[in-house]
Amino acid sequence: MVARTALVTGSTSGIGLAIALDLARNGLNVLLNGLEPPELAIANPTYSELSAHGTKVRYYQADLRNPSNIQDLFHFCNAELGPVDVLVNNAGIQHIAAVEEFPVELWDSILATNLTAAFHTTRLALPTMRSRNWGRIINIASVHGLVASPRKSAYVAAKHGLVGFTKSVALETATTGVTVNAICPGWVLTPLVQKQIDARVSNDNLSYELATQQLLSEKQPSEQFVTPQQIAELVTFLCSPSANNIRGSAWNIDGGWLAQ
Ligand code: NAD
Repeated sequence: MVARTALVTGSTSGIGLAIALDLARNGLNVLLNGLEPPELAIANPTYSELSAHGTKVRYYQADLRNPSNIQDLFHFCNAELGPVDVLVNNAGIQHIAAVEEFPVELWDSILATNLTAAFHTTRLALPTMRSRNWGRIINIASVHGLVASPRKSAYVAAKHGLVGFTKSVALETATTGVTVNAICPGWVLTPLVQKQIDARVSNDNLSYELATQQLLSEKQPSEQFVTPQQIAELVTFLCSPSANNIRGSAWNIDGGWLAQ
């Protein structure tokens, strides 16, 4: 059987890299993407681990805020690995500030990366998925796609938008073999969250341990981080036949955050 191809956006670190690794482990060819130049992305030890699974692994540097870069990313994928069967829209950025102080260019960047990029990748991936009557589109949203926190207006708006976009496209594809879902993680210890812990250490003069414990206990009843691997295994499950009728869901994996 010909191996399927997965495109995981924003996969040079954190959650995206864990998803790429798990998909390769499960026999898919994987195209990674990020802002980093190829020599830096490939130097990551996990990249060699990815390549050890006997499937094809490629990396393409593309800034997803620019739609023509997304087009180029798809051309590269078609040429190197074939059409995208599994699309994981994972690239995302955060900025924390009160709305009246929110830098306008960062609002635009957050909306472009966390929301509009998923529109472009979806519209480019869907025609071939429809023609083959199989595909998976998995959008990495956030608990902030379902509830809000203060000082995160751009992120919350983008992630709520991404959940709404997921539902709409899931309805458009409901009678096909293409499923579209969102995953909504709580706190995961990646560079994106590390910055928020570091900010607490320096702004509130806390020890690293106390800053981490405060961050978790404010929102996440388990007081444990969700791991990138747990999210990756949920992605792999959503790619399996058992998930054929999971459509338009916004699946939270959040240590109880949304149960409160
Ligand atoms: P991360 O900072 O570790 O990784 C972000 C990735 O996105 C990197 O590969 C980076 O190169 C890429 N990226 C950023 N801007 C880009 C752009 N313009 N074009 C292309 N690639 C770009 O972050 P992470 O924590 O692994 O987050 C991954 C996703 O999970 C994001 O969508 C984030 O919002 C979401 N998420 C994270 C958490 C968490 O607690 N870490 C919680 C919920 C949701």
